[in-house]
Order: sequence, then C-alpha cells, then structure tokens
Amino acid sequence: AHTLRLVLGDQLHPGHSWFSQVDEQVVYVLMEVRQETDYVLHHAQKILAIFAAMRDFARYLRAGGHRVRYVALDDPGNRQSIPGNLAALAAHYAAQRIEWQQPDEWRLDAQLQAWGAAQPLDWAVMDSEHFLTQRGELAALMGQRKQWLMEHFYRHMRRRYKLLLDADGAPEGGQWNFDHDNRKRWPGTPPVPADWRPQHDHSDLWRMVQRAGVQSFGDPQAAALRWPLNRTEALACLDAFITTALPHFGDYEDALAAQAPRLFHSLLSFALNVKMLHPLEVVQRAKAAWRGGQAPLAAVEGFVRQIVGWREYVRGIYWANMPGYETRNALGHHAPLPRWFWNGETHMRCLHLAITQSLQTAHAHHIQRLMVIGNFALLAGLEPQALHRWYLGIYIDAFEWVELPNTLGMSQRADGGVIATKPYVSSAAYLQRMGDYCQGCAYDPKQKTGARACPFNALYWDFFERHAPTLQGNRRLALVYRQLQKMSDAQRAALRTQAGHLRERLDTL
Ligand code: FAD
Ligand code: SF4
Repeated sequence: AHTLRLVLGDQLHPGHSWFSQVDEQVVYVLMEVRQETDYVLHHAQKILAIFAAMRDFARYLRAGGHRVRYVALDDPGNRQSIPGNLAALAAHYAAQRIEWQQPDEWRLDAQLQAWGAAQPLDWAVMDSEHFLTQRGELAALMGQRKQWLMEHFYRHMRRRYKLLLDADGAPEGGQWNFDHDNRKRWPGTPPVPADWRPQHDHSDLWRMVQRAGVQSFGDPQAAALRWPLNRTEALACLDAFITTALPHFGDYEDALAAQAPRLFHSLLSFALNVKMLHPLEVVQRAKAAWRGGQAPLAAVEGFVRQIVGWREYVRGIYWANMPGYETRNALGHHAPLPRWFWNGETHMRCLHLAITQSLQTAHAHHIQRLMVIGNFALLAGLEPQALHRWYLGIYIDAFEWVELPNTLGMSQRADGGVIATKPYVSSAAYLQRMGDYCQGCAYDPKQKTGARACPFNALYWDFFERHAPTLQGNRRLALVYRQLQKMSDAQRAALRTQAGHLRERLDTL
C-alpha cells in the first residue's frame, strides 16, 4: 500500500524528517499547476524561480533514493489543480494514505482540509518543521492584550531561543533593541558588496511557461535568473551575506540609494520562505559573526529581530485573523492602482526607482516597500486589496502569510491598527533625509503646493485631515495634529485643494 506525500512549492526543506529515511512505499509528489500560477498575476521571475527550485528539489530527492512523481505544467495528465492531481495520483498508485505538510496559506490549508474530509483515504497533516512558533502561539501569548506589540513577542523569542543574552539572561549590550543606531543615510561608503547570488539560464523553462499561456509581468531574466534554487546555493548566499554585508546591515537598514538598490540587505527572503534555509540557522550564523568580532552587535541584533521577531510575528497575526483579514479596509480607501505600478513610468523619482527595480528584479528592500511604495499608496488612498494583489504578485518572496500582514496591516493600516501603532506615512522630508532619491526628481521636496510641489507633502497633510475622526485620538500622532492645528485655515485649504487635484490625476503624476 502506497503513501503519497505532497511537497508544495514553498516546502523545499531538505532537512524535514520525512526525508531522513528511504521508504519504497512512499511516493513524494510535486506539481506545477495553473491553480498556483493563476490565483494572482505573478512576476515572471517568481514563477520561474519556484518551478526551477521544485525541479531541483525533485532531482535531489531522487538522488537520495526517494520515489518522486513530478507533475510538470505541460504534462498531458496534469489536472492543473492540487486536489485534481492528488485524486488522480491516489488512484494511479492505489494509495491508501496521503500526507501533506501544513500549508502556510489559509487558501491552501482550507482547500486541502476540505478535500481530505471528502476522501475515503487516510490522510494526515504534518508540521513543516520550519517555523520557530506554532500557528496559534502568538495569539496564545498575547491573550486579551489590546495591542499585540511586536517588541513584547520579540523579547519572548530572544529568551526562548537564548539569543544574544548574557549569562544572567539580560540582553547583550544592555538593551533589547538597537534600532536607534540603525537609521543612517548611506554616504556612498563603505562600498556595497558585489551581487553574490548565482546566475541560472532558465530560458527553456520560461518558453514552456509561455507556451502554456501563463500570464505574468515583470522582467523574466530567464537567461540570468539570480535567485538561489537549492540549499547549497542558499547556504553560499548566506555565507556571502554574513561576511560582506551583515557588518553594515544595521547602519543602512533604512537607507535609500539610487545607485545601490540592494544596499546591505541579505536577499535571503526567497530562500527562507521556500524553506531552503531554516530561520534558526540563519540567526545562529549572524550571532557567531558577532561573537567572532566580524559584525557589530547593533547590526546582528537588527537582523535577528527581523527574522525571529517580525517574520514569526506577522505569521502569528495572519493565523489569528484569517479568514477575513484580507478583506479589511478600515480607512475606506478605494482608488485603483495608478497605471505606473505596472511600468514604473511616473515623474516621482522615488516611486519610479522603487517600482522599476521591483519589475526588473522581483525585489525591493523593506524601506522601499514600506516608506516609498506603501507610503504613497496609503496617502493617495489606494484600495488595500488591489495593493495586496500587486505585492503578492511582484515580489519573489511574497507568500500570503507574510505579505498580507505586511501590506494590509503594517503598511496600509487597513486592519484598523492590529500591527501598526500609527500609520507608516511621511512627507517628502523623511524620504529626502534617508537617501538621494529626491536629487533629480521632477518635483521639489521642499514645496507643499504648486505644480512642482512633491505630491507626498500635500497628500500627507490631507491624509491626516481626512482621517482625523479615526486617528486624532492616537497619542502617537499628537504632534502631527498639533502641527495641523497651528496652520491657518487658508494653508489647510490650499493643501486640501492641492491633494484633491493630485488624487484626481494619480495616473499622470
Ligand atoms: P533583509 O532586510 O535582509 O531582512 C532579513 C530577513 O528578515 C528577510 O529575509 C525576512 O525573512 C525577514 N524580514 C524582514 N522584515 C520582515 C517583515 N516585515 N516581515 C517578515 N519578515 C521580515 N517579506 C516577505 O518575505 N514576503 C513578502 O511578501 C513581504 N511583503 C512585504 C510587503 C510590505 C508592504 C512590506 C512593508 C514588507 C514586506 N516584507 C515581505 C518584509 C520585508 O520587506 C522583506 O522580507 C525583505 O525586504 C526581504 O528582503 P531581504 O531578504 O533582503 O531582507
Ligand atoms: Fe519622491 Fe517627492 Fe523626493 Fe520626488 S521629491 S523623489 S516624489 S519624495
């Protein structure tokens, strides 16, 4: 009697206990299906990288002696849905049992559970053995607290995994969080490291995807795909990051630089999210670099916080609020995405650079996602659901469990403030301070009204004025509202009129 074990495209985890023994009766199933290529419009590199990595993983399993059934996208027998293929393969192998690892997306989790419940077969759901917390753990930890503060969760995780603690259990360096040291503009030195990622030619795979009629956007870079596609490559990327970029990660974590799109970021999110790397091994490597004197504590703490803090925290938020979270629109924003989200053609240099980079590389760093693109979207009142689909499609690392809380919650505050204690918005002054994007822009960051005024300025004040009924009571915004009150009626009216004109012609900004 055969057992089928389903391996999803983001479950390429060679260290999973499933693979520790070879069993002739077990058939591992991987499948490329239209269900997954088509649920949202994806960046071409995302489709390519996931399929190429799945194919690599299937080869790896076979080389280890495991039985593998790989259903390619253009396989004539492919039913193009996960349950459709599972049913067909269960019949083919006369399988008596099907197992899968907990999917990270609610959509797939619900689909597989519903399918399983209707089967006469035995079925079981296993842990994916990747995360540092269980799905419901954040909710259990936070209980009835009004605000589920990330910082509270993060300290709990540091203690639980004994990360960067001294012998008495106190945080190394005497503080939990070194964010204060980590907000520098990058002056052009130290030089950013050369791109350490591998290059792959996947033109054949890309032609197959196109022949199948899969729609996508963004630059396929099929002949020079730069993402790690297996664990060996991912480990080499981790190594290169630790030695060349981590020492400066903290200092320039929030910087924006036109000539250095990657800055000192790790570019490890794809490898982590498809589970080629384990989060604990990644932070242990960073910790070892600090102990060995190769990276300062502030950089290492900042990096550790992103992975054991933010990454696990947003996953907990996702599972505590799904389903339904994806439909929230607390600020009632309904504007469609401007056309230039799909081609980068806007006169606003910051958005032009961040979106063009995203279209070319399927990646943007956190501050580009949050304080350039997300900031504009929130100020302009773009519909959070349309924006969510855009982020979910464009980024190489975008899987709903991590993308949705970041986009809808942290960036757009469409969840009413579950994650963000105040909206992540700014006027041009912040963007100007954090980098060189404003140099050479068609707009003037100093002007608030008039044809050349930076759109971020009027939109910023208008945003707070429009949303005063909801936001005014927030203590963290007291300063903003005091500034707004200090303005004359005429000033406020001019900003309102300017913002109104801008919002009427978002496509042409
Ligand atoms: P680094 O800056 O090197 O950070 C190291 C690692 O920390 C990342 O690889 C990632 O695993 C983790 N991390 C950092 N910030 C976050 C965060 N806020 N939430 C969860 N993990 C974090 N990240 C995704 O993995 N997938 C997404 O779809 C995604 N969508 C986002 C959407 C918006 C609107 C925003 C503001 C952020 C989003 N992020 C997302 C978080 C973050 O921007 C990316 O993880 C990061 O830019 C990936 O690049 P990197 O690997 O070079 O990250
Ligand atoms: Fe962006 Fe305004 Fe600066 Fe132009 S002036 S780059 S639109 S912040």
